[in-house]
Amino acid sequence: MANGTADIGVIGMGVMGANLALNMAEKGFKVAVQNRTPDKAFAVRDDNPELAANVLPAETLEDFVKSLKSPRVAVFMVPAGKPVDDEMAKLIPLLEAGDLMVDAGNADFNDTVRRTKEVEGTGIKFTGMGVSGGELGARHGPSMMVGGARDTYPLLEPVLTKIAAKYKDQPCVAWLGPDGAGHFVKTIHNGIEYADMQMIAEIYGIMRDGLKLEPAKMAEVFRDWNTRELSSYLIEITAVNLDEKDLETDRPMVDLIVDEAGQKGTGRWAVIEAQKLGVGATTLEAAVAARGLSSRRDERGEAAKLYSGVETAPAQFFADEAGFSELESALVTAKIIAYAQGYAAMASASDEFGWNLPLGTIAEIWRAGCIIRSHFLDDIAKAYDKGQRVVNILQSPDFVGRVAKGQAALRRVVAKASLGGIPVPALSAALAYFDDYRRERGTANLIQAQRDLFGAHTFRRFDRDGAVHHHWPAV
Ligand code: NAP
Repeated sequence: MANGTADIGVIGMGVMGANLALNMAEKGFKVAVQNRTPDKAFAVRDDNPELAANVLPAETLEDFVKSLKSPRVAVFMVPAGKPVDDEMAKLIPLLEAGDLMVDAGNADFNDTVRRTKEVEGTGIKFTGMGVSGGELGARHGPSMMVGGARDTYPLLEPVLTKIAAKYKDQPCVAWLGPDGAGHFVKTIHNGIEYADMQMIAEIYGIMRDGLKLEPAKMAEVFRDWNTRELSSYLIEITAVNLDEKDLETDRPMVDLIVDEAGQKGTGRWAVIEAQKLGVGATTLEAAVAARGLSSRRDERGEAAKLYSGVETAPAQFFADEAGFSELESALVTAKIIAYAQGYAAMASASDEFGWNLPLGTIAEIWRAGCIIRSHFLDDIAKAYDKGQRVVNILQSPDFVGRVAKGQAALRRVVAKASLGGIPVPALSAALAYFDDYRRERGTANLIQAQRDLFGAHTFRRFDRDGAVHHHWPAV
């Protein structure tokens, strides 16, 4: 087959695909672009004359393949699921042994494992890669989590290290493990993102309904927090969101936005996978559930009427320096617990699937480019960088002191919010998980007794070896 001139190709010129292609073109790579609706591919070139020499739009997939250098690297940036299978089915007959297909969308990692198997024996390679950072990240530097066979990475590395976000000159991209490893890590990234956003929204709820603050004042507090431990992209944008006014009404934009949060599935996948692995990612679960409930707005409206008179204590929050620092400390602590849960899910998946995930490297490539980027991730990277096995972030010497100190604030905030009837599902899930995690003698002994009574499931005793069944009184 004729050898083209493009270093890499991108299929799918939506928000992410177009911006990723322009990022590649800007870094000096010739990039072939193709789209189901071909006009969009040509528009990417024509709307960006300064990069036009490096953007090679193709009318058809055949032309797209012809324009690529061999071995060909074709990146899909289309919606997850059937569109990826459809595009792969069309592309495979046009490729040759040694060529590489990359799914850079938000795939379910189980699909990535399946697709990796499907191409086995054809000589054509397949890699699943998670990309985070949204539109701006794709254009100016995303964080990228690469999976697939180790020997496919050299085909991608020169381009990816150039287009990735940089944290102190270090590119935020790495090969993380075989088959579905990259997409699994991206899924957990999104689950953590859900929890992080939900916890920030809960603190906003306390500021709005407990402290009766105006959004502009809240923005001031979030801006201040962004100078310390909480410093992160999400806290930064929250301040911007809260400060924004609607030009037509001059009202705070956030007050005009309907309180229903959407989701595309990655948060839910993170929770499902954590459950399958037996890891309690309760803050992620709370965040996914809260988005679900947010979408039942009419039903909530009815319930609000039914329970309008229920007794709640006045929420004793304080709109002063001490009050804000209590909220800040609670948020920091809950955030550490949420990340600990996400990391526990990745550690467990790594064992289960034999991926040997580099957990420290994952924290490193999340320090810039992605939605959860923060200074805090540098602390996690350092915790994993000491050459010792970190059983759980909550047991890492770098975090024990911080959590032990901050838990009192988290406890007070959750207690006050609960008494005041202000929902804090993710913050309280973090606190409950922390208390359960640090309790040596749990309560599962009673569950084992119940299971043995109704189902003869047996239980183990402290004072002897082996499983036993007890003859409980008949009920
Ligand atoms: P988008 O703006 O909706 O664009 C989707 C693109 O895929 C369009 O070019 C569309 O072509 C094409 N497409 C849709 N259905 C197709 C099909 N059945 N067959 C072939 N092509 C099809 O989506 P996006 O936001 O760029 O997202 C792309 C992927 O990146 C998704 O997996 C998404 O989850 C992931 N992602 C998105 C973000 C984000 O912030 N948006 C961040 C990280 C990852 P037409 O122009 O013909 O409709």
